Amino acid sequence: MISPRTLVLGGGLSGLLAAWHLRRQGREVDLWEASPAVGGWVQTLPWPGPAGEAGFVERGPQALRVGHGTALERLLGELRLGLHPTSPKGPRWIGKEGRRHTSPASLAGLLRAPGLGLGGKLRMLTEPFIPAGDGPEETLHSFFARRLGVGFARELLPALVAGVLAAPSERLGMDMLPRLRELEGRGGLLLGGLRAGRERSRVPVGGTGALPWALAAQLGCVHTNRAARGLESLPGGRWRIHGDGLTSEAEAVALALPARSAAELLRPVAPGSAQILETIPQLDLRVWHSRHAKVKGWERDISLLVHPPEGRGLLGAVSLQAEDPRGVPGLLQVRTYVGGAFPVEPEVETWSGVLRELRRWLPELPEPVQVREEHCPAAFPLLEPGHGTRVARLLSDLPPNLHWVGAARFGPGLPDLAEGIEGWTRSLSI
Ligand SMILES: Cc1cc2nc3c(=O)[nH]c(=O)nc-3n(C[C@H](O)[C@H](O)[C@H](O)COP(=O)(O)OP(=O)(O)OC[C@H]3O[C@@H](n4cnc5c(N)ncnc54)[C@H](O)[C@@H]3O)c2cc1C
Repeated sequence: MISPRTLVLGGGLSGLLAAWHLRRQGREVDLWEASPAVGGWVQTLPWPGPAGEAGFVERGPQALRVGHGTALERLLGELRLGLHPTSPKGPRWIGKEGRRHTSPASLAGLLRAPGLGLGGKLRMLTEPFIPAGDGPEETLHSFFARRLGVGFARELLPALVAGVLAAPSERLGMDMLPRLRELEGRGGLLLGGLRAGRERSRVPVGGTGALPWALAAQLGCVHTNRAARGLESLPGGRWRIHGDGLTSEAEAVALALPARSAAELLRPVAPGSAQILETIPQLDLRVWHSRHAKVKGWERDISLLVHPPEGRGLLGAVSLQAEDPRGVPGLLQVRTYVGGAFPVEPEVETWSGVLRELRRWLPELPEPVQVREEHCPAAFPLLEPGHGTRVARLLSDLPPNLHWVGAARFGPGLPDLAEGIEGWTRSLSI
């Protein structure tokens, strides 16, 4: 049971969503965010153009994937955020065997998929007849091998997973993408995906950072520059929270923090939970943003995902559409992902090396007129097989009125976070 006065720690999307839903249930909520701005990874940062023109980069997601009937769709509707549709899409490629191929995410790409013979392609079409599995220890690799065949899992999946989740599919558990299990339950990836309807890519007016801003503005109980430094248990199940030079008391506390920060606060009051949080690996990602002269045919945006380890640490790159208001008119804006769980070879450590590697796959790419690096330490948690069991142990070790939500619990994707946090608040008894 969570009592009426709740303090949420962390003003990333998880904390803001937790506070939003608790408030809608009529609870009194306060939120502390350590940094000067809300949003955590979801922030749209100014990046003026070469002549000082207005321009922006996204610290984290560049767009929101909004499925019909999902928690994210409900949230966006309730907030009445202005949204840009981002389709139609430009070319999608995977980089493999030294050259780029049309992405197998489209039918044309699938028919021409590299390394997958006719047998492998026909095997994929049997997917609707494969029964649902129930193995809690299944990896993304074994899930896709079971459903779409070993050919797909070996030849195509590595690029698709590395470019999105920055880790090898053999290391990732199903909790990294909880929606896959749901699709499997609806008749498989192909039929379930069709029934669920296509997800649409949306960008709030002002960038994805407009989403946390809207939540914070409507909540009105968000305190930035306020880091939680310690938790103290009080009689009657209450909590005292220590910040820098101030303390607060609450009936309940919800930790909406990255796993390591949550572990630090939990160590003195829930050492078992803290220990489990400390074992969750965190992925460091390097993101390079660059602006170039326009390339003909790339106006609708591009996406490249590289089959590891062929990129030597470079995982992929995406661009903004030519008319995207976050870009600078007349320039192509690209962002390139490096690292994650993959070793980065020394020559891809610097921008000149990244550009050289990028041009192996995108030889048309002109010299940049502007470059900016955003290092993202602990960008995502890496949820290994069996993660669900560890989460259950962690939760059972938490003292009363202490809650934990966030990417390491519900998966790092914003649609999964929105779904997970909406479900969590619904499960609390008043
Ligand atoms: C480069 C990149 C690209 C991404 N792309 C996508 C994408 O395309 N699609 C998608 O769905 N997801 C994407 N993600 C993942 C998604 O952005 C994150 O999983 C999600 O934003 C995590 O939100 P969070 O609130 O759980 O954590 P965070 O965003 O890490 O927020 C945690 C907050 O807690 C605060 N905090 C930490 N310690 C304390 C303390 N002691 N007291 C108070 N506050 C504290 C931090 O300052 C921070 O604001 C991407 C992430 C990155 C880094």
